[in-house]
Amino acid sequence: MAIPRIWRQIEEKYNLVGTLCKDCKKKHFPPREVCSCGCYDLEKYRFLGKGEIVTYTVIRISSEDNEDTPFRNIPYVLAIVRLDEGPSLTAQIVQCSESELMIGKKVEMVFRKLLEKGEKGVIQYGYKFRIA
Ligand SMILES: [Zn+2]
Repeated sequence: MAIPRIWRQIEEKYNLVGTLCKDCKKKHFPPREVCSCGCYDLEKYRFLGKGEIVTYTVIRISSEDNEDTPFRNIPYVLAIVRLDEGPSLTAQIVQCSESELMIGKKVEMVFRKLLEKGEKGVIQYGYKFRIA
């Protein structure tokens, strides 16, 4: 990913910023241009980063052919997290043992290094979640 693009995405990635529909008040993540109600009047909305596990899986085979992926260190946990404000997203769950994992478990967002790549050593950070 090009450095300018990384910079443009910093607010969204580091703050879990989505959108709020001014009409129906629905919140979206990632941000949208238009709401499902048809409204274009959306404003930025910063999520608190708290939610619960809807479902999860433990990945034990890495995608070795793609060095761009942050998911090469196996095993890791990938979950669908429903934010307290409504939207769901897919994220890695860190700092937990498999025995702690449970559907409905409360989680909170943390920022972690996703990957470091290239001659310029660009380090990308992004959101992950841990057991709250
Ligand atoms: Zn709406």
